[in-house]
Amino acid sequence: MGFSEIVGSVSHHLREEMLSSRVVHAYLLTGPAGTGKRTLADICARALCCQSQGERPCDACPSCRQFLSGNHPDFIRVKPEKSIGVDAVREVIARLSVKPYEADRHVVVIEQADKMTAQAQNALLKTLETPPGQDVFFLISTQITALLPTIISRCRVVRFHYLETREAEAALKARGLTEERARLLARLSQGSVGRALELDASEGWWQLRDRTLAALTALHEKQDVGVAAFPLAEKREQANDILDILELCARDLMVIQDGGGDVIQTDIEEKLRQQRFTGSAMLSGVMEARRMLSSNVAWQSALEMLYYKMVGG
Ligand SMILES: [Zn+2]
Repeated sequence: MGFSEIVGSVSHHLREEMLSSRVVHAYLLTGPAGTGKRTLADICARALCCQSQGERPCDACPSCRQFLSGNHPDFIRVKPEKSIGVDAVREVIARLSVKPYEADRHVVVIEQADKMTAQAQNALLKTLETPPGQDVFFLISTQITALLPTIISRCRVVRFHYLETREAEAALKARGLTEERARLLARLSQGSVGRALELDASEGWWQLRDRTLAALTALHEKQDVGVAAFPLAEKREQANDILDILELCARDLMVIQDGGGDVIQTDIEEKLRQQRFTGSAMLSGVMEARRMLSSNVAWQSALEMLYYKMVGG
């Protein structure tokens, strides 16, 4: 996969940069999760070491193939377990002091760079400013405020954003999803392609949504609350996911009932239309349930309260 498969202006900008002589020593890719930071950092790394005379990365030359199999000797990836300590940074610096084996530079990608301890960030400072040779760093971060200002000032900052739904849909189609699935996922993920792909692969999420919908269908009046709560009450560890799903359904119900806007979950629109309670009652129930959970009320009680609210109890 190359720059052209990644939709959006950031990809275009980084491509120009990598293929020009303007490459700097350190890039800081920042923005919300699921916006393509790591994917693009990897593409940049391959482009910088690619041996092709044509479009880079070519994903076919020996260098690209080594990258793709995870064995490029001049590529260093750092990711946190809980944090990134000073030892991990010193190890990177030591590797940079050895001449690159194959490419004419090392490329370092530091994932979740904001997880570097202050000591680790300090250890990195000097190398970031004047790394050996043509070495290039890519720091990836969702929380730029956790980085020392001195680190940030040594990097060229590239900001990532969620795509417009339409762009996300195109990006998903380019990855082989059908048009219908791409449209649904682009909306569900609100333009986060990473989140959309995660949802696409997550059978558990779709099963949970089916269960949640089934529980709603079983809910007609106050007497049903216990029965309707039962299948979800045992899913305490998925309480937040269930509330997210209910919030999404409430939002779609409000669109259906009040008109205006587009239904996000077009695949279950018919089922939603059959529900007899209002989206707004459901939404206020969801918000109340979130408050209850955060003050340690039992999940089953929060869920039952939500259902009572929905049936007007
Ligand atoms: Zn190549």
